[in-house]
Amino acid sequence: MKIKVDFDLCESNALCEALAPEVFELDDDDFLQLKTDETNDENVDNVKRAVAACPRAAISLVSEA
Ligand code: SF4
Repeated sequence: MKIKVDFDLCESNALCEALAPEVFELDDDDFLQLKTDETNDENVDNVKRAVAACPRAAISLVSEA
């Protein structure tokens, strides 16, 4: 699945980075960066936790056709 972030909604509180640091990272300017936009067997559980935890509902998972 593809990992999408609505950067207009994101408030850079780093909750997703805490749950899935292999995917989400805040840069030095507090902008969220995606290290990858693909889920895999290793990161998918953490990414789903981040989706559930994001208070702005800014992260979504999109199935690839
Ligand atoms: S948890 Fe949501 S609001 Fe917080 S940094 Fe991640 S995407 Fe942005």
